[in-house]
Amino acid sequence: MKDNATPVLKVKNLVKHYATNAGTVRAVDDVSFVVNEGETLGVVGESGCGKSTMGRTLVRLLEPNSGTISFMGQDITHASRASLREVRRDIQMVFQDPYASLNPRRTVRQILAEPFDVHGIGRRSDRAVQVSELLDRVGLHQEHADRYSHEFSGGQRQRVAIARAIALEPKVVVCDEPVSALDVSIQAQIINLLKRLQAENGLAYVFISHDLSVVGYLADRIAVMYLGEIVEIASKSSMWEKPLHPYTQVLFSAIPVAKPPSVLRRHRQTLIGELPSPINPPQGCRFHTRCPHVMPKCSMQPPKLKAVAGGEARGHQVACHLYE
Ligand code: SF4
Repeated sequence: MKDNATPVLKVKNLVKHYATNAGTVRAVDDVSFVVNEGETLGVVGESGCGKSTMGRTLVRLLEPNSGTISFMGQDITHASRASLREVRRDIQMVFQDPYASLNPRRTVRQILAEPFDVHGIGRRSDRAVQVSELLDRVGLHQEHADRYSHEFSGGQRQRVAIARAIALEPKVVVCDEPVSALDVSIQAQIINLLKRLQAENGLAYVFISHDLSVVGYLADRIAVMYLGEIVEIASKSSMWEKPLHPYTQVLFSAIPVAKPPSVLRRHRQTLIGELPSPINPPQGCRFHTRCPHVMPKCSMQPPKLKAVAGGEARGHQVACHLYE
């Protein structure tokens, strides 16, 4: 973490549970973290770990049960509909499936003009220029403005979704698996676009993905989620070189580590057992049913996310009894 880092988003003890016929899903349980200006916080974990629910709760598409979300020092946890409209200028979201998130009955011009209309930014006569600039910024051609979303490839649709997200110059964009539905070559183009926009505008990203290589390329810091909780959070270099939590170690064991002049492959580990249900997560440490280092107290006492002291590990936090 940079010494002079300015927090834009602070999340404290966030909880999001929802009711289903089978019981209450504890999707996000007491999650806390900070996102600093201009940085990318990567959020990783298996499907079903709560990372997408957490992303949607951050932008208040879902109502949290408890905890606080602050944007630039302002508590937006229970912001009214009117204040949320203002907040959404600054915190935007890009979804996995741009096809579902773009209105099929509207042209790209209409989709991109909408944020300016809703927030009354500029005059109607400015729209053509505003839309044209956005198309340029995301690498689309001017003739794309009068097409509908079904006329585009997946990568182009995601460019439109990104253009809409950045239209009002937000400070934070929550990206929920934004490239996982795309071909690998297109993924690289979209990731590079996100990187360029960040460099140009000082955007902060919360980048949610199950793909560790993508997160490793983009993120400055990484948070690892397991069954609704953050089990480890650290700078990318610290996490990459020395993952501490047994779950993170398994996740990262499949990723080659660059150690010039060679590439070191870690000892590959596999996860045992299935991800338990978030309706009835294990008592104590939620990972204890799958952990190779489980101890008697792990099934009784939930470990707290705590800072690991010293040197390289500065800013590195882990929730595991092995480090107490
Ligand atoms: Fe494994 Fe225990 Fe650490 Fe949980 S607290 S990760 S079960 S060693």
